[in-house]
Amino acid sequence: MSEVLDPATGEVVGFVPATSVEEADAAIARADAAFARWRAVAPGERARVLRRFAAVVDAHLEELARLEVRNSGHTIGNARWEAGNVRDVLDYYAGAPERLTGRQIPVPGGLDVTFHEPLGVVGVIVPWNFPMPIAAWGFAPALAAGNTVVLKPAELTPLTALRLAELAREAGVPDDVFTVLPGAGSVVGERFVTHPAVRKVCFTGSTEVGTRIMAGCATQVKRLTLELGGKSANLVFADADLERAAATAPYAVFDNAGQDCCARSRILVQRPVYDRFLELLEPAVRALRVEDPSRDTAEMGPLISAAQRDRVAGYVDGAKIAFTGSRPDGPGFWYAPTVLLAGSTADRHWREEIFGPVVSVLPFDDEADAIRLANDTEYGLSGSVWTRDVGRALRVARAVEAGNLSVNSHSSVRYWTPFGGMKRSGLGRELGPDALHAFTDVKNVFIATEE
Ligand code: NAD
Repeated sequence: MSEVLDPATGEVVGFVPATSVEEADAAIARADAAFARWRAVAPGERARVLRRFAAVVDAHLEELARLEVRNSGHTIGNARWEAGNVRDVLDYYAGAPERLTGRQIPVPGGLDVTFHEPLGVVGVIVPWNFPMPIAAWGFAPALAAGNTVVLKPAELTPLTALRLAELAREAGVPDDVFTVLPGAGSVVGERFVTHPAVRKVCFTGSTEVGTRIMAGCATQVKRLTLELGGKSANLVFADADLERAAATAPYAVFDNAGQDCCARSRILVQRPVYDRFLELLEPAVRALRVEDPSRDTAEMGPLISAAQRDRVAGYVDGAKIAFTGSRPDGPGFWYAPTVLLAGSTADRHWREEIFGPVVSVLPFDDEADAIRLANDTEYGLSGSVWTRDVGRALRVARAVEAGNLSVNSHSSVRYWTPFGGMKRSGLGRELGPDALHAFTDVKNVFIATEE
């Protein structure tokens, strides 16, 4: 049994069993046996089951959100959005089974058709920063395409995934089609990689673990989707709406206490407006409401753990602090939003993913300089461009090597548009119209018509 803590208070909220290798093997074998039955369910019926699952999630939205506040310290506003996102992703991919069409390709002497065949058992490995949405981005399209799913939540945040598995059963998802296996990454997660019946791994987490998983999957040519780290740039040009750029920048990096792979944790400001931008940013950071995440007014909660808080603090030690926001006193894993001035691009806090409420600011000279600095990272997940010049917005958005760019906003995630990283931020895309194909293999069949 492992202890599960409330990050806002440090108190124990429950105990969760740790799945052993033997138990993981047995669950994978059951999921493998269930695959033949689930893929044979008529497309319209599979769609109905997923729609019912979405409806049951919707009926338990507040309960799921409250559970996430207690287990992960997310603000209640964010947690409601996250539970709603699970419902929406299920609804969206519930439209897929009847639309998973192949092609008919002209060939001489017969008929050539393609099928999108499900893979078998899909192993989904989830990190602790967005337990609900990241789980759904894996399991919803996987199930819609006819696969069965085994899912491992992060050790620190298993409660909502376990509840979602119960809701799936309540909605009529057949036994062993969707199984949640809480436990250690080195035990259950590794087993997804090494077990031959798991035909695809869908991993979200650190670049370090993702790299190891990719190497492990290679030995079986196992299909793989990777959503990894980020160090995204927020580029503010001198002609931008500076008030809006400064007012929104804190939310682009401090949302979820900065524990967001898309966090715009490097702010690049064109030199003529650098001082003015910082003047505008300071009151916005100080006004951020960092408080008990169960309050409706909370804009930022605690970090996930004491270890994460210490890790984050390690990046701030010795760095040049411009200003900070507030944090509550008392127990819990709190850290105040912090704005650092980068001395150069060699600074550790400028280069490494901090995964906490810390942002680094650096001036740039011109468009070419901005693009060069934005791309001077091993990561490539997201980024923002603030300018009133449409041509520049498009040039820069095309030149920044990242999977998800936003212009004059900070949005990254919509369930109906593709999401994923370039470079070491990942491999493959989740969400949107094409994600389903990542859970299938194309089969080509030729039927001779000649006598
Ligand atoms: P992590 O890599 O330590 O753990 C992620 C998951 O992998 C956990 O469930 C863990 O138990 C499991 N795991 C650990 N070792 C394993 C192994 N050897 N084999 C198989 N599974 C193993 O990451 P974390 O600290 O939980 O999450 C934070 C990281 O996730 C950050 O780097 C962040 O950028 C990244 N992230 C990326 C995205 C994205 O979409 N690109 C989204 C959220 C988080």
